[in-house]
Amino acid sequence: MKNKIWLSSPHMSGTEQNFIQEVFDTNWIAPVGDQLMNFETDLENFLGNQSHVLAVNSGTAAIHLALKLLGISKGDEVLCQSFTFCASANPILYEGAIPIFIDSEDLTWNLSPYLLEKAIKNRLKNGIKPKAIIAVDSYGMPFKVSAVRAIANKYEIPIIEDAAGALGSKVADIPCGTLAEFGVISFNGNKIITTSSGGALISTSKNMKAKALFFATQARDVASHYQHSEIGYNYRMSNVLAGIGRGQLTVIDERVQARRAIFEFYKKELQGCNELKFLEEPKGYYSNRWLSCIQTPSFEVREKIRIALDLEGIEARPLWKPLHLQPIFQDYLAFTNGVAEELFANGLCLPSGSNLTEFDLFRITNCIKKALKKEQL
Ligand SMILES: *Cc1c(COP(=O)(O)O)cnc(C)c1O
Repeated sequence: MKNKIWLSSPHMSGTEQNFIQEVFDTNWIAPVGDQLMNFETDLENFLGNQSHVLAVNSGTAAIHLALKLLGISKGDEVLCQSFTFCASANPILYEGAIPIFIDSEDLTWNLSPYLLEKAIKNRLKNGIKPKAIIAVDSYGMPFKVSAVRAIANKYEIPIIEDAAGALGSKVADIPCGTLAEFGVISFNGNKIITTSSGGALISTSKNMKAKALFFATQARDVASHYQHSEIGYNYRMSNVLAGIGRGQLTVIDERVQARRAIFEFYKKELQGCNELKFLEEPKGYYSNRWLSCIQTPSFEVREKIRIALDLEGIEARPLWKPLHLQPIFQDYLAFTNGVAEELFANGLCLPSGSNLTEFDLFRITNCIKKALKKEQL
């Protein structure tokens, strides 16, 4: 039996255990300690752009904190990209706020500026001003930042950048995670670097970071006893996991190079399969290619490829099911153009882990070519 090929599995640098050893040596087995502080500083240095980073226990928690800091509460409306993982929008519901879903444009697969403005105008006409925009860098590809920024500024609505999978991506040399008022990174096991589970909230001021830390550590008032005037959360990252993060961050550039090389490999090996399309980088855009994706001509072809890979022990997954079609979200207002729905029907994420071997990669492309040949018979 050949070994299983996963979509995106953890890839250690080998230095993680040294950092963890320091944690054990100093006995800071807690959600506070040197590794945590140093991990945040390392991230701030990597992101530059005057970023202030708070390490938390998931990307989802970071999105929730961003909404809290923007004062989103019950009944507020939040505009959110539909073509994304459920975690982009779930925290809106945690606050009893109302998501309004926006479809994608087809150059980056992210927030359509046209539909975003249409939605804002519609809500304003109904006497409601949306409180925030959640823009996603899907699969590592940055969103159309200048167009979305222009609209956000025009209507004075802050942006939360869900850069969960986009660490190492950039637009015009500005790193993803720092493209908006708040940025969110995930260090889940399937992301480009991982702390097993974990995340980071990136904000533009020390003050915002301090507020985020307050909410992430149970909203403790200043007092010698436990005193609470607001609802807090237990969202801080563990010092142990921050040690893993420090080891992982030493190889982020190599991981980006490796994922980008995998994308190029697929493009080259599958170029004879005319029916397959790859998402190119618009000018000035640089994607970490967290996941390599293909578009096929139809749902049937996509399934044929996916099932053929599955039978070979190769994990591949359809692109995001748009949130506006998900049972938990389908009753909310959505501004659509069919782009996300088509990507979901025809698109497929291919194995993209930086630890894949050339042998693995040929196994994958050969399997796809064989499936497509059968398609033509
Ligand atoms: C992974 C991911 C998240 C959630 O991050 P967690 O760390 O798993 O909570 C949110 N949004 C997107 C787009 C993601 O890919």
